[in-house]
Amino acid sequence: MTGGALAGAVARSAPDGIPRRQSAREPAARTYARALPIVPVRARGLTIEGADGRRYLDCLSGAGTLALGHNHPVVLEAIRDVLDSGAPLHAFDLATPVEDAFISELFRTLPSGFADRARVQFCGPTGSDAVEAALRLVRAATGRTDVLAFTGAYHGMTTGSLEASGPAVGVADLVDTADRRVVRLPCPQDYRCPFGVGGERGAELTARWTESVLDAPESGVRPPAGMILEPVQGEGGVVPAPDAWMRRMRRITAERSIPLIADEVHTGVGRTGAFWAVEHSAIVPDVMVLSKAIGGSLPLAVIVYREDLDVGEPGAHAGAFRGNQLAMAAGTATLAHVRTNGLAERAATLGAHMLDQLRRVARHFPCVGDVRGRGLMIGVEMVHPAGDRGPGSPGLDGGGGGGGVGRLGDAASDLGPPTHGQSAPAWAASAVRPHPAAPELAAAVQRECLRRGLIVELGGRHASVVRLLPPLTITDEQTAAVLDRLADALEAVARAIP
Ligand code: PMP
Repeated sequence: MTGGALAGAVARSAPDGIPRRQSAREPAARTYARALPIVPVRARGLTIEGADGRRYLDCLSGAGTLALGHNHPVVLEAIRDVLDSGAPLHAFDLATPVEDAFISELFRTLPSGFADRARVQFCGPTGSDAVEAALRLVRAATGRTDVLAFTGAYHGMTTGSLEASGPAVGVADLVDTADRRVVRLPCPQDYRCPFGVGGERGAELTARWTESVLDAPESGVRPPAGMILEPVQGEGGVVPAPDAWMRRMRRITAERSIPLIADEVHTGVGRTGAFWAVEHSAIVPDVMVLSKAIGGSLPLAVIVYREDLDVGEPGAHAGAFRGNQLAMAAGTATLAHVRTNGLAERAATLGAHMLDQLRRVARHFPCVGDVRGRGLMIGVEMVHPAGDRGPGSPGLDGGGGGGGVGRLGDAASDLGPPTHGQSAPAWAASAVRPHPAAPELAAAVQRECLRRGLIVELGGRHASVVRLLPPLTITDEQTAAVLDRLADALEAVARAIP
């Protein structure tokens, strides 16, 4: 739409009434629209302009889908090229020059040792579709049903479409719902470490837990079809997995012939300071789940996997929207731009700077419990500084439990088995525990940011983590503006605490 036509459409739809009409006509489950009452009409790079003429710095970036920010020129050009060429916009899974170029660029970016033996499967357009496809793939390849996943993980929203489909449409043999289980394992994290120790020791204990669950017959866990993990949990509150732990998970799964699925929907395309987040630990997973930024702001999702897992019969995977040519062209342009401009390295440098600055700011505000992240995936966890942090706080992976603010240090070597209602062991009494999560303070920070023209996201176990996902193209000046506005917002919230 031209600028004039867009202005006309905005005028006709009476922007003043849009939020009201949206709340009258769309579901109560609306999320972003509740916290961010903006009617975006124009956007470029980091900036969004609302119908009211206000401009915002957008650190939500379409939930991390916009690696290059809004309407990057290389993305627009790629889309226009396809439109002007007369190519079909929709091509199912037929081979096209646009698809071929996308696959070549994608394979060029993959971790070494993976691309030579990899297959790529185009899924439905969302990350959830690709996660479903990955799980179906490993179930078919192993003949097993159960899946290992981690506390705090987020892998999507789909459920049940296959179960509800009838044999008449030829998917009966894919319907294998009987007695499927997800075995949930502890995720290593410093601030709310499930074992109350954080750091390397905490990660080591979570790894040992995983081993013992897999190896002890009394755990009741059947040999699983696969393990799925996020190299940095995103929706779970920006929780980076330690590199050594990632290598350990790779070893544990390889030794037991369990396919390892890396869900890089959130972390891919330079976001964490490496092109793919698995590169930080130098592991090669068996399956990678990719979406969000790979479509260059348009919907696209794929899985890439080791070719020997490719046991599916024709028809084992279907979906009407797997051939979105515009998304593939936008994605090719995005992947190539990130690669040729070293934007992953830029994300690493900028992210380290932002973490450093935010940690300095946080020292002044006891209501900031933790600042963490990797690359341009950053989280600021809000807490109640005066709250109870005794052993009665929630336990495994819950709010208020665990340690890591002040480490246990040598006391960790006294770790014993869980006490099951007996009095707490000596080491637990000496553990410095995190403060209880403060979702209402996080929501207040989000509101104060918005007043200052900054859009941020919330997430985490208790929606108490303020999340920043700026585009990888953010400039130094814009970074300074984002940090200033966030620091001001934190100050306003801290000042208002009684
Ligand atoms: N996996 C991860 C790690 C995600 O962060 C998300 C979405 N935030 C998904 C899967 C699901 O993607 P989608 O919302 O596109 O279905």
